[in-house]
Amino acid sequence: MPAETAEHIERPERHEFAAEVGRLLDLVVHSLYSEREIFLRELVANAADAIDRRRFLALTDPAMALPEGGPGGAPGGAKVQIIPDKAERMLTIADDGIGMSHDELASQLGTIARSGTRAFGDELAAAKPEDRPSLIGQFGVGFYSSFMVAERVEVLSRRPDSTEAWLWVSDGQGFTLSPAARESAGTSVMLFLKPDCAEFLDPANLETIVRRWADHISVPITIRRDGKDLAANEGVALWRKPRSEISEQSYSAFYRHLGHLFDTPAATIHWHAEGTLEFAALLFIPATPPLDLFEQDRRAHVRLHVKRMFITDQADLIPPWLRFVQGVVDTEDLPLNVSREMLQSTPVLPRIRKALVNRVLTELKARAQQAEEYAKIWENFGAVLKEGIWEENEHHKELSELFRFRSSSAPGLTSFADYVARKKPDQAAIYILCGDNPEQLAHSPQLEGFRARGLEVLLLSDPIDAFWPDRLGEFGGLPIRSVTQASADLEKFPFAAGEAATEPGAEELSAGEADKLAARLKAALGEKVSAVRPTGRLVESAVALTASDKGPNLHLQRLLRRSGREVPAAPPILEINPRHPLMRALTTILRPLNDEAELLFDLARVQEGDPPVNPARFAGGVAAALALSLAQPAGGSRGDTAP
Ligand code: ADP
Ligand code: MG
Repeated sequence: MPAETAEHIERPERHEFAAEVGRLLDLVVHSLYSEREIFLRELVANAADAIDRRRFLALTDPAMALPEGGPGGAPGGAKVQIIPDKAERMLTIADDGIGMSHDELASQLGTIARSGTRAFGDELAAAKPEDRPSLIGQFGVGFYSSFMVAERVEVLSRRPDSTEAWLWVSDGQGFTLSPAARESAGTSVMLFLKPDCAEFLDPANLETIVRRWADHISVPITIRRDGKDLAANEGVALWRKPRSEISEQSYSAFYRHLGHLFDTPAATIHWHAEGTLEFAALLFIPATPPLDLFEQDRRAHVRLHVKRMFITDQADLIPPWLRFVQGVVDTEDLPLNVSREMLQSTPVLPRIRKALVNRVLTELKARAQQAEEYAKIWENFGAVLKEGIWEENEHHKELSELFRFRSSSAPGLTSFADYVARKKPDQAAIYILCGDNPEQLAHSPQLEGFRARGLEVLLLSDPIDAFWPDRLGEFGGLPIRSVTQASADLEKFPFAAGEAATEPGAEELSAGEADKLAARLKAALGEKVSAVRPTGRLVESAVALTASDKGPNLHLQRLLRRSGREVPAAPPILEINPRHPLMRALTTILRPLNDEAELLFDLARVQEGDPPVNPARFAGGVAAALALSLAQPAGGSRGDTAP
């Protein structure tokens, strides 16, 4: 094969790498030593993918037909060859796959095509240098990992439907492309190894490396030793084997390969369905979230095989709200030459999909029995599962039983069932509060009145939480209500025993006084608020904002605005706490309350995590108030000067 590289006659075209490639390459090459054998995994995976793709196209296009002479001389044979050449210090990985045209070589190997890889590059750049090697080793960076071991990489490739071959050459600083020759279709990746990488020329060492992970690759892999190509894997589809014959390591290796993941799965679900539907499924729930979990393309990529042959990973075998599930489905119920149209219209896929969803939900339910283990799954994927309520109506019950929340009155995670078991006997709703982050929620003034009355509130801080509770509506017959819209419910609950500090004091405004003060504040604020009203919801805080009774709550309004949408909502309502000493003080001021009202409004915004309408004025007001309070004659508690 090296002879072929000498074939370029014309002057090679010179190309630069896309900027992001250069940056990723630098990071990879310079952060790695111990993990560098992963280049082999990446290159063999690419070669096997290329063979799968060619085999699929060959079903409908004779020009793509695979070479004869697979294992046992069978037609349709194709393999990945690993060929060390000590004399040239060169390692070749050759395949009979789909190959790459001139333009494909330039684009596939010159840019970072995979969105996950781009995200990974960003993560890598952000990681501490000492953490980078394991990050790379565990994740893999595809083709570019070649440069961890090679000072020059040559890729000679020819597509089956063309007689033209091209040679791509790179030393890591851009690449050249020149016309070349290749006897048959496929790709050879030739690595001219760095002087300290001779270990990758030793066939026994190569075999050790390949055997560690290659068992699940259903394409034969050979390693050349003393002129002979010796098999390095079984080339049998893992999911077709009985569970008893598969080791944990094989499952994990397959899982890593599928999802570009690096840990061991949180759950492995492997079964063979027989009867009306016939398929094998091997699904994994990852232990860490895939990097692209919340990217635009929210599709699942469970791979569809028909009679062992890879067809597509775009068949939507799993709904978007289970997209973290990785895996393979292999069915007998579709023809091998299944067309794109057939994939869309066949009743087989929806039935398989239904079976997969039920199986995954059953598995999650079983995991949920182990609170600690389940907490990890929930932290990783709860926000995705919640989308299931929003997206379809079919699984509301099963899903809501899987949900877990932080709570205002218990540490750890609380389920709806826990909540219902703890609620007050005459409590007729499940109370929730949505916001940006759990810390802020736990200290929100919105909670005060509920806490003081011993009413538990579930604290929801995923963006999706602004949407699904309304769609779900209830759990176990109890309506789910936001505390921001449930202040009326509080009236029938007395303060909890032991909440002495929250007993109404002598300072409390009477209902008449409170209404009058509210009217004066509303007059001062004008159209900024829909209303000002006294509330029993607050205990320590003076004021709080809430959405007007019709329309989206404040948190949802904020999310919508952040995503650049117009929010046609009425201005908020300013609620005042008649028990707060500040309110009594305000009633003693006779002039209009303009400045005080503006300050209170901004104060309420700040409590919600929003900026004051006028930050400078707010800061000025706070400083003035502070100066005033410090200038008061010192009370007994301020004798803190040094003796
Ligand atoms: P990924 O495999 O995740 O797409 P890689 O960096 O490993 O990322 O490869 C980039 C692309 O280069 C592949 O998607 C494929 O289109 C192309 N490619 C790499 N190796 C081969 C090969 N041996 N045969 C055909 N195409 C290949
Ligand atoms: Mg790859």
